[in-house]
Amino acid sequence: MPFDQPPAPAAAVAPATPPRDTALVIDGATVIDVESGNRLTGARVVIRQRRIVDVGPAARVAMPTDALRIDGRGGFLIPGLWDMHVHSAYAGLGNLLLPLYIANGVTGVREMFGQLFAMKAYRAQIDTGALIGPRIVGSGHILDGPKPIWPGSVTARTPEQGMRAVDSLKAAGADFIKVYSVLPPDVYRAIATRAKAVGIPFAGHIPGGVNAMEASALGQHSAEHLTGIPLSCSRDEVAIRRMRDSVKADTDYPAAQALGRALGSRVIDTFDAEKCAAIYREFVANRTWQVPTMTVNYSISHLDQMTATDPRLAYIPKFLVQGWDPKTDFRLKALTPADWENSRKTWALNQRILREMVQAGVPILAGTDVLNPFCMPGFSLHDELRYLVEAGMTPLQALQAATVNPARFLAATDSLGTIARGKVADLVLLDADPLVEIGNTTKIRAVIAGGRAYDRTRLDAILAEAKARNAGN
Ligand SMILES: [Zn+2]
Repeated sequence: MPFDQPPAPAAAVAPATPPRDTALVIDGATVIDVESGNRLTGARVVIRQRRIVDVGPAARVAMPTDALRIDGRGGFLIPGLWDMHVHSAYAGLGNLLLPLYIANGVTGVREMFGQLFAMKAYRAQIDTGALIGPRIVGSGHILDGPKPIWPGSVTARTPEQGMRAVDSLKAAGADFIKVYSVLPPDVYRAIATRAKAVGIPFAGHIPGGVNAMEASALGQHSAEHLTGIPLSCSRDEVAIRRMRDSVKADTDYPAAQALGRALGSRVIDTFDAEKCAAIYREFVANRTWQVPTMTVNYSISHLDQMTATDPRLAYIPKFLVQGWDPKTDFRLKALTPADWENSRKTWALNQRILREMVQAGVPILAGTDVLNPFCMPGFSLHDELRYLVEAGMTPLQALQAATVNPARFLAATDSLGTIARGKVADLVLLDADPLVEIGNTTKIRAVIAGGRAYDRTRLDAILAEAKARNAGN
């Protein structure tokens, strides 16, 4: 992971960033310990060279003489938020999308499929201050079967090709391998073995042909969208898998879609809570992180009813919003009203599964699926936190899913995830207490990203610029 390196050498400094050797101090805020839920009132946080160098009661922590001071009084300081499932690293989109994360307190993202070269370029530009944006980890590409769902996928037909793809993606700089839906099961198993052998995590969709329990046992690091869990929890799993086999649904997306529609609500109606509980226990035992992405699960299952009235859409490029239409989305355009009703049932089942996973202690990460319909960079992460609370998490647990859990997932707790000496200075100063009401994460007074400070005026300027650009075309 890129986090554990010392700060980069002196770089072009973005406006409002203190010079390299000047301290930045956040004074008087209540610091929230997202591990324990404890609050430290009247705290002083001192930042130098992109790191937190001291944090404690103002009476103990000396005020540096050279400090740029941010008034934290009345505010609540939390670690920078992470969106653990986004798609924004595409050439030409960086300056349109990445600043919106910062404007919403999202200082880290996990890119789940974009362009590896764009991701690396953005990372470098953000580091120097040439571009405003979050910390990025990512897969670059996705690894799918011989008939991939998306153009631009890396594909593998045989186990040997799968293993070679792992090696080449790793060599190209991917932080992990993103596995996808129509990977043949034998190829998936070979990818899992190879990834383990060469020391790179694999994460993503549980392929349609693979049982969730097996994916967990093979060491898949995270599973997205809850896909694969309903079928794995069905009493009729064996019979349905036989049907999938007969139409080659495991490796052919149109066939899988057609069979899914023919099955109607059968997978949902045969949900077996005990079978599912065993899967949750496996996830806990193997630390298989779940990224339920309720934001996209909601929009994909309600898109026929959604209208573009959300005021936050004013900040999103129009050409993207225009694509968020079920009549043009190849995954959705053939759906009938009856299919949409089944989508709604799937949504309700996903809510139940998430609720049960929270109770079972399954490790969970907050992610939205930015760039999918109505999944907006930065804005939607706050929606996801609300969905997590609706599923039974406390506000503290929801905050953990976007702060310390990503740090644990990335094996970067030495530099990320909490507010402590030595950690990277990624912070959000709120006007109200998020432990009382999770919606308070939207009441942002200031954001510190990699030691660079953005006060409310500057955050508003980022938003105004995005809005003006969209109004013009
Ligand atoms: Zn995605």
